[in-house]
Amino acid sequence: MLDLSQYAAENGIKYFMISYTDLFGGQRAKLVPAQAIAEMQQDGAGFAGFATWLDLSPAHPDLFAVPDASSVIQLPWKREVAWVAADCVMNEAPLDQAPRVVLKKLVAAAAEEGLRVKTGVEPEFFLVSPDGSEISDGLDTAEKPCYDQQAVMRRYDVIAEICDYMLELGWKPYQNDHEDANGQFEMNWEYDDVLKTADKHSFFKFMVKSIAEKHGLRATFMPKPFQNLTGNGCHAHISVWDLDGKVNAFADNDMPFGLSAKGKHFLGGIMRHAEALAAITNPTVNSYKRINAPRTLSGATWAPNTVTWTGNNRTHMVRVPGPGRFELRLADGAVNPYLLQSVILAAGLSGLHNEADPGPHYDIDMYSEGHKVTDAPQLPLNLLDALRAFESDDELTGMLGKDFSRAYLKQKRLEWNSFCSHFSRWERQHTLDV
Ligand code: ADP
Ligand code: MG
Ligand code: MG
Ligand code: MG
Ligand code: MG
Repeated sequence: MLDLSQYAAENGIKYFMISYTDLFGGQRAKLVPAQAIAEMQQDGAGFAGFATWLDLSPAHPDLFAVPDASSVIQLPWKREVAWVAADCVMNEAPLDQAPRVVLKKLVAAAAEEGLRVKTGVEPEFFLVSPDGSEISDGLDTAEKPCYDQQAVMRRYDVIAEICDYMLELGWKPYQNDHEDANGQFEMNWEYDDVLKTADKHSFFKFMVKSIAEKHGLRATFMPKPFQNLTGNGCHAHISVWDLDGKVNAFADNDMPFGLSAKGKHFLGGIMRHAEALAAITNPTVNSYKRINAPRTLSGATWAPNTVTWTGNNRTHMVRVPGPGRFELRLADGAVNPYLLQSVILAAGLSGLHNEADPGPHYDIDMYSEGHKVTDAPQLPLNLLDALRAFESDDELTGMLGKDFSRAYLKQKRLEWNSFCSHFSRWERQHTLDV
């Protein structure tokens, strides 16, 4: 195992940022001086768990975040600091509801079945004004701004700085673009094992926010920050491999779309559990303004409405862009990086166990012809619908772990109740004169 003390000496690290991600995707960290890292690497950094979203009480004992040294990253924009993902431990046992713990258990379960899941994520984001009220570039007003050459160059300093860092970190980034909404961008790097992808996704959000702030801007991954513009998706491309990572078990060129029987069953699991897993992939009140949304200014939302799949067609929940993988387009920018991968594994593995059938593929434009599909389930219309679907899905909640699922539901219900008790202007506008 990598010795963090030695790593500090070799790389000129003054501080380690020992970081864990809570149930709501919040990144929590302690800055630990390199002189103290040896002990922390053993025992972890201590936290009061109740102070973060982990469904703990103030009476719980100390929560320890134990660094996973293999995840360490020297901050390219602040080289004396190194970030390291940590696993939550309490009473000397892994904390069941901690997202990285949930994911590691599922990775181990897949490995027991001889499988290794690899994914790539596409976390879209907006660059907005520091107060978050508007996009940051007043000249970025085109009706169809996707791939806008002029607009992406106006943000070259931010985008190129982030991409340079990804190159330096060896993530193999390969393209950056202006996306479909004014002020929106996407940066793509190469897929990897799910835990590595989750750590990179987590770090990517931290990096994008940090570099945006450095340039006097703000980055947001909020699912639908502007009502009339396309929202922030976080698509995931998925393939399953043998333990050596050499043979793609999803690839079969003799099958339709180049998707093997295993690939079909894994996809079947995602389809079968879609309404429930939306509680994880679309975890906020605002998420439901992205899916099921009316047409945006650009002409399409690029987000799904129903549980359907297809070939290389971006109007469905799942797209098979080429042989040996499929793309889940459901998740949004609010998704917890660890829980996104967890729910893909949980649903996909259960699909493999049951030899689930993904059902018929619909090779139509769902945005204009969706009414022709009458037997596909509708995605949840709001967070409460999704939470109810999640709660009643015994198989999915079991695969994710009952303790995790209970904790997640409890905290998300509290969030929903807080939203419902908020008194809105809409109510006055629509109710004053009843
Ligand atoms: P698109 O916008 O067409 O959906 P992108 O190029 O933006 O595609 O993102 C594709 C993602 O899928 C990248 O992260 C890429 O590395 C990943 N990917 C490519 N092949 C595979 C594969 N076999 N398994 C998992 N992910 C893959
Ligand atoms: Mg204290
Ligand atoms: Mg993309
Ligand atoms: Mg995109
Ligand atoms: Mg995509």
